[in-house]
Amino acid sequence: MRPIPPVLAPQLLRRLPRRQQEVLEAAAVLGERRGVSVYLVGGPVRDLIMGSPGADLDITVAGNAAPYAEALAASLGARVTIHPRFGTATLILQDGLRLDVATARREQYRHPAALPQVFPATIDEDLFRRDFTINAMAVRLTSGGGELLDPFGGLTDLRGGRLRAIHDESYRDDPTRILRGARYAARYRLRFSVRDRRRIESTLAESVLQRLSGDRLFREVQLVLHEAAPEAVLKILEGLGVLRALDPALARDLRAAAQMRRVRQGWQHYRHLGVSPRPELWRVYLLILLRSVPARVRRRVGGRLGLKGPPLAALTGELRGLPLLQRQLEGRRLGASRLRHLLDCASPESHLLLWAGSGRVRRRVERYLTRLAFVKPALTGRDLKEFGFVPGPTYRRIMDMLLRGRLDGHLKSREEEIALLRQRFGRPH
Ligand code: ATP
Repeated sequence: MRPIPPVLAPQLLRRLPRRQQEVLEAAAVLGERRGVSVYLVGGPVRDLIMGSPGADLDITVAGNAAPYAEALAASLGARVTIHPRFGTATLILQDGLRLDVATARREQYRHPAALPQVFPATIDEDLFRRDFTINAMAVRLTSGGGELLDPFGGLTDLRGGRLRAIHDESYRDDPTRILRGARYAARYRLRFSVRDRRRIESTLAESVLQRLSGDRLFREVQLVLHEAAPEAVLKILEGLGVLRALDPALARDLRAAAQMRRVRQGWQHYRHLGVSPRPELWRVYLLILLRSVPARVRRRVGGRLGLKGPPLAALTGELRGLPLLQRQLEGRRLGASRLRHLLDCASPESHLLLWAGSGRVRRRVERYLTRLAFVKPALTGRDLKEFGFVPGPTYRRIMDMLLRGRLDGHLKSREEEIALLRQRFGRPH
């Protein structure tokens, strides 16, 4: 059993930061005034129980969310966006706090892996449509507030370290839940129940995952890579046979897990280097994941994730170039201008990935990031114009030549740059 303190819902809400409590109080007051029941639901309830409340709030109203959300936004001075198709609304408060408001709804799947049709419903039906018992809890905010609704035993599952889908057809209806589940399992150290493992196995055997659109799959993969420790999620996905089901060549590679950890360990330090633009960690993880598989598998996996055209070409091109770049950075002699050129051509994500390596490569990337990337000639395009050069491609060549001279230490001042131009081109006169 895990050490989760006893749960009394009114006290649960007091674990929230003061600001969130005020917002929920406003939501409850408005619910009473309009005669609709209002609940805090899903992730925020789970996270409160786990003692790690997040910043954002999800509430569900047993009635039409749109007019309720508009009135709530007015009372809180928030911006509101209504999503009529799903009966949901998003409020962004002045201090950046985000509040999602949904109409209690039930869902119907026309076929496995399809997007569901949604219908207004009671809170019980709304909780039943959810993915896992641990996400199907709610705290009533209206009628005095504080009752915990936990119809499927989410609290006991959290305490027992168990992850259970709400019903047997859950993974078949929506196979993204397999990836969602792996995220929760890794994040909260839960284990899928034996029954769930069997259900997942049979869902994968029916190739339902293959019916998911590339977009939906990519979104889930992104969410996996946004987790604090994606390698732990990938390990679970591999154990479930999901990676193989996505692509037979996608067996998880232990080196990839070690690299992901290394990148993360270095991340704080890397941030202090003040690099701009900042790399996105999830993209670095994606590079790591695909780096170890052959090029044809990368293209196949990229295609499966719905990537095509320039984004797919950029990803595969970057991965193709990485081994050579790595070797060049390991080489014994590498002048500053060559180093600058090589790394100017690589993405911020590749910089971080290479920096997270060791020895000479790391030192060189750091030298580039902290010094070489900022070097520029004293002369500008305007100077060249004044000196009588005709604008066009020559400018680029001249500026590159001056930059190389600066980087390699042949040019140290504006005067020396002018002297070089005079020697090469006879101008300025
Ligand atoms: P996270 O911390 O990962 O964001 P969350 O619980 O806030 O967790 P969301 O993706 O924001 O997750 O979804 C909000 C709630 O909606 C979930 O708690 C869950 O109850 C429900 N939900 C989301 N996606 C699904 C799904 N595919 N099937 C069923 N219920 C879902």
